Amino acid sequence: QPLQAIRSWYFEARQLKRALMQSQASFHHQIDKLNETAQTDPLTGLLNRRGLTEAIDMLVQNQRAFGLIAIDIDHFKKVNDTYGHDAGDQVLKYVANAMKTQSRHEDILCRSGGEEFLILLPNTTLDHAIQSGERLRAFVASQDNIPGCRRLTLSLGVTRWSAESNQSVDTALKQADEALYKAKESGRNRVQAV
Ligand code: GH3
Ligand code: MG
Ligand code: MG
Repeated sequence: QPLQAIRSWYFEARQLKRALMQSQASFHHQIDKLNETAQTDPLTGLLNRRGLTEAIDMLVQNQRAFGLIAIDIDHFKKVNDTYGHDAGDQVLKYVANAMKTQSRHEDILCRSGGEEFLILLPNTTLDHAIQSGERLRAFVASQDNIPGCRRLTLSLGVTRWSAESNQSVDTALKQADEALYKAKESGRNRVQAV
């Protein structure tokens, strides 16, 4: 009977939807937990490299594609040389905070090195990751009263990882770094995609 078939199809779709929503909720819960418990960097409160590794493992295990933004502060040495190391630290905190205010709740923010940062954007297209990077770049560049240095710009490299791409996350991380390097080379204060 066709009606029976429709009913059962509808029932299964509903079950599937519920299962997907549950897995979505548990995924968000995992991100929240990670942000609470994983290793964080004391200066900025962002994840450190160990926290980043845990975050990546979690995303890969959940088969979540993610956008990847590598960020490096432009001419940061000049900030230290001109205003001192404490001012430099203040600027690092400022950038971390800008990343927080310009990101979505589910984005994973990390201080990957001295003046280098990474953002993982779960379930994001490359275009959206680029837009997100551009929003952060434009926000920081528009400020003229940044504590510690007054004005500041960022260079950003953007890529995306997915299980279907058949490449390792390490390769994606290298791609983001290469794009970042291109952004520096072509004048800084810009977002470069792979
Ligand atoms: P570029 O635009 O090419 O990125 O130039 P840059 O000066 O930002 O890059 P470079 O890698 O030459 O300098 C990075 C500087 O960041 C060197 C180091 O003294 C400084 N730095 C690294 N970690 C910290 C930190 O925790 N606090 C402070 N205040 N400075 C740091
Ligand atoms: Mg650097
Ligand atoms: Mg730099």
